[in-house]
Amino acid sequence: MATRKNAKRKPVPCPDCGGKGETSETVRVGARKGRATDNRQAALCLTCLGTGEALAGGE
Ligand SMILES: [Zn+2]
Repeated sequence: MATRKNAKRKPVPCPDCGGKGETSETVRVGARKGRATDNRQAALCLTCLGTGEALAGGE
């Protein structure tokens, strides 16, 4: 069987986390200079809620 289903809608990786489902934000200190530290915080991507896929219906 070589039937191929032409899927029109394929899962789109979340643009915010790149499909990883979580984002790593650089911890910044200092309100004025905004100096970035080496500390990185892994946070759940709020855009896709950790699924790694962009929500459908946005376009
Ligand atoms: Zn995401």
